[in-house]
Amino acid sequence: MNPGTLYVVATPIGNLGDMSARAVQILGQVDRIAAEDTRHSLPLLRHFGVNVPLTALHEHNEREQGPRLIEALLGGESIALISDAGTPLVSDPGYRLVRGARAQGITVVPVPGPCALTAALSAAGLPTDHFIFEGFLPAKAAARRARLQILSTEVRTLAFFESSHRIEASLQDMVDAFGATREAVLARELTKTFETIRGGELEQLRAWVAAQPDQRKGEFVLLVHGAETRVVDAEVETDRVLSLLLTELPVKQAAALAARITGAGRNPTYQRALALKRDAEG
Ligand code: SAM
Repeated sequence: MNPGTLYVVATPIGNLGDMSARAVQILGQVDRIAAEDTRHSLPLLRHFGVNVPLTALHEHNEREQGPRLIEALLGGESIALISDAGTPLVSDPGYRLVRGARAQGITVVPVPGPCALTAALSAAGLPTDHFIFEGFLPAKAAARRARLQILSTEVRTLAFFESSHRIEASLQDMVDAFGATREAVLARELTKTFETIRGGELEQLRAWVAAQPDQRKGEFVLLVHGAETRVVDAEVETDRVLSLLLTELPVKQAAALAARITGAGRNPTYQRALALKRDAEG
């Protein structure tokens, strides 16, 4: 028995018109569709006349369900993987399944289509020759701020996914970490009725979102222009290195290592590490 094929199929991020003809064709011909949330995907599949058995594959069952799906593929079934919206594996489940399938020599075929990340990048007018995708920032404020501090000297365009309940806090933390005047673009509800793509300086965007409750609703991609130069100044660089090391090491070790990396004095670096630690805990 020849193994079946695993198709990784992108679905719309809000606008059904973005479903590709090839996606509909593949979804209609496979033996089974692995969906992040079967109840969520059912209306979409019915809309396109797809009536194929569904299996749930989400972050909580991927460890057990992945191997079962791989067994089915090895047994000759063809399977399509979809997520709730957009491209599977882009901040969505499927990584273990795809990796496991490839390790078994199973053919994995992408069926590309909508993706909030590329949609936002394509319309933002920020440099796209090099960019980094950070996915979702940490939910806890201290971890989020530490992450942003680490990213503050990144020269490539930065891309983040964000949800409605954290957009204001994240914008504020970005103003603090990247500076009020750093250029950014907020892409909200892409492809949907209330699609809004707004560019400006970070502080302007923060104030605009804070003033308009409607602009805090829905789904967001936040793009931030990269830093102009890699090392802004010695203090910023010391903070960046310390923030990174403090996520893994005790204060004393982090400070000693940071002083060696940056060439700054040991005592001021230690005092700064204590202050950063206090801020993070406060
Ligand atoms: N795999 C999906 C993709 O390819 O777009 C992304 C899934 S991720 C779990 C969901 C996040 O993507 C949302 O919180 C939001 O940040 C972003 N997103 C999804 N749809 C969006 C849309 N229509 N407009 C803006 N952002 C969107």
